[in-house]
Amino acid sequence: MATLALPKDQRFADDCSRAQIEFCNVTKLYGSVAAVRALSLTVSSGEFLTILGPSGSGKTTTLMLLAGFESPNEGDIRIAGRSVASVPSYRRDQGIVFQSYALFPHLTVRRNLEFPLEMRGMKVGERTKRVDQILERVHLSGFDGRMPSQLSGGQQQRVALARALIADPPILLLDEPLGALDRNLREQMQGEIKSLHKEFGITTVCVTHDQEEALTLSDRVVVMRAGRIEQVDTPEALYDRPATRFVATFLGEANILENSTFDVESGPIPSAGAVAMIRPERIRIGPSTGAKRVDSEERQSVSGTVNDMIYAGAVRKYQVCVGNDVLVVREHVASGKPTFLPGSEVRLDWLRSDIRFVTP
Ligand code: ADP
Ligand code: MG
Repeated sequence: MATLALPKDQRFADDCSRAQIEFCNVTKLYGSVAAVRALSLTVSSGEFLTILGPSGSGKTTTLMLLAGFESPNEGDIRIAGRSVASVPSYRRDQGIVFQSYALFPHLTVRRNLEFPLEMRGMKVGERTKRVDQILERVHLSGFDGRMPSQLSGGQQQRVALARALIADPPILLLDEPLGALDRNLREQMQGEIKSLHKEFGITTVCVTHDQEEALTLSDRVVVMRAGRIEQVDTPEALYDRPATRFVATFLGEANILENSTFDVESGPIPSAGAVAMIRPERIRIGPSTGAKRVDSEERQSVSGTVNDMIYAGAVRKYQVCVGNDVLVVREHVASGKPTFLPGSEVRLDWLRSDIRFVTP
């Protein structure tokens, strides 16, 4: 942070350096469509918060409102305690990596990076130094003379990140930043974004439809559905204790036990209309023959028939028919563990405390 920070007088929004962000009852309408409905949310200073949701749930609109590219019909957005309703986007002092905010194709990497500094009136010598520093930081030293079209997708994305960070903004906004990259590169860039966030301490709001990305990168995740917040929590809490069926199924795989011919006992007392849910990796699978009864105060067991087995590298995924339910079981492949082929009679068991209740 120290080596890359700008001198104080270079900032044009000094009071934003404590960049807590508040959405206060924000609604955005497009005609009769409410893209964002009565959204209230606080992002702490220095936090990495990800907005996760299916396509059309209002993620991009939320970020556009924060960036100042759209304005809310109702409600207010505050940065460091001050309403930004009358602050235009170019004065909000935010680093932005949006798909719609790509690199200038007709400018070299260096000119792309210099642009935000020029806007802030930084002198040439300073600019050159700063561009060299940030290029080194994103492992692109020596690429400054290239045009964006002469870079790979991953390199372009690095330059976009560098451009967003170059003026040392207190806030970083990312919209599906890794969406265009292939899997390996995406994972590598996730690590890169994480370490940049750590180093710069920037309050970051990221938007993605990729659950793995959200879980990997974030301090907290907001799950959005149809313009509303469904649940906000840490990645672990969200996965382990989803409040709703939507969150449980959107964030990973979930067995919803609604037609079960067996009683699901124990666990927290369900609220009205709540259904039981268990994650596939919480279910143990074993042979039905010769197995001793494992039902106990802690564990519950049922018998079933394997319907399908999918081998997926480190895990085997079984579909097991149990009464009217088809339960998905995910088991880590380990030596000595038997494989159950379709048609096999098996016994499933789980800790009663691994049952969760989710509302519809
Ligand atoms: P997401 O980023 O989660 O996919 P968006 O925020 O882009 O969702 O869109 C939310 C909803 O608002 C969608 O129904 C979309 O069709 C609508 N919408 C977004 N932008 C516009 C626009 N400029 N004009 C009209 N409708 C829009
Ligand atoms: Mg979007």
